[in-house]
Amino acid sequence: MAFDLNKLLRPHIAQLKPYSSARDEYSGKKGVFLDANENPIGSITEQQFNRYPDPYQQDLKASISRIKKVNPEQIFLGNGSDEAIDLLMRAFCIPGKDNIIILPPTYGMYEVSAGINDIAIKKVNLTEDFQLRPEVILETVDDHSKIIFICSPNNPSGNKAKREDILKVLKGFDGLVVVDEAYIDFSEEVSFTQELDKYPNLLVMQTFSKAWGLAALRLGMAFASPEIIKVLNKIKPPYNISGLTQETVLTALENTSKKDQMVQEMLEERDYLEKKLAAMPLVEKIHPSDANFLLVRVPGARKIYYYLIDQLIIVRDRSKVVLCDDCLRITVGTRKENKQLLEALKKYAVNLPTA
Ligand SMILES: *Cc1c(COP(=O)(O)O)cnc(C)c1O
Repeated sequence: MAFDLNKLLRPHIAQLKPYSSARDEYSGKKGVFLDANENPIGSITEQQFNRYPDPYQQDLKASISRIKKVNPEQIFLGNGSDEAIDLLMRAFCIPGKDNIIILPPTYGMYEVSAGINDIAIKKVNLTEDFQLRPEVILETVDDHSKIIFICSPNNPSGNKAKREDILKVLKGFDGLVVVDEAYIDFSEEVSFTQELDKYPNLLVMQTFSKAWGLAALRLGMAFASPEIIKVLNKIKPPYNISGLTQETVLTALENTSKKDQMVQEMLEERDYLEKKLAAMPLVEKIHPSDANFLLVRVPGARKIYYYLIDQLIIVRDRSKVVLCDDCLRITVGTRKENKQLLEALKKYAVNLPTA
């Protein structure tokens, strides 16, 4: 088995001549800029946004590069991780012909993005305790399988996959293996970014939406070989990351200690919530979590979900998802929010008819 990027790529993407933006053709910072049809006077807002942003986000990538210990040429930034997921489908999968492999229960966007792009899906369910089945995954691969999506720590189960299982898939598959690490900051697991030099078929995704608290800005990261990153850069919309996002995150990265503090606090809250939930007779099971949420099994989950909504407490009903019967996915909130949830659940249990 060997990974051959050019064989994996859709032929027309390999041949594609990308859009050349004004900022591609002249990337200097000094001069009189009459090349991009911008408004030379200023902006309607107080903050000035009249100039197009850097299409390759070089300052931001330099900073991310230092924090993540990955070369800037190995970083792609997307309008959320969701943009990277979509671009990967479009780069590698021929509609109506190729397929991707996903491992349910898992993040819903892989399937939706494949659906939008008319790409077939092969599903290999996780085990009862939400671990990979690497042998079955590799048996499921056919000549048209282009990408395997592994989410670790996994959404909605919360646990991380066993490292050796992910490595088995990486070694046994000559297509692209995406390891989605949206929740890695909440886990003690080391990132797969450190394996990038060993596995040319590996792409690691992370996001600023969770631990960093920047969901509204929409900024996702993909880490892979420079060759794969070049492909993503070639097909992305030229200015996919807004100037506001680039500047805001660049400034935020000067002080990452606040993020570390917030993660610490969320982890303490996760322990608190887990302990309190575990003590409730209503709660049948709490799945071990390496993320900022808990997958919790309760009898009649759907009913409880609607009851909580009546109390203006919104959790995620996952009870119809494979292997998640009667499960709610509960994001860890602040102490005050967690207490509100616990109070509401207690009240619910009190009103239950006793057996
Ligand atoms: C939340 C989440 C993301 C983040 O998506 P963004 O588009 O970056 O906000 C990615 N993957 C998984 C599994 C998630 O749960």
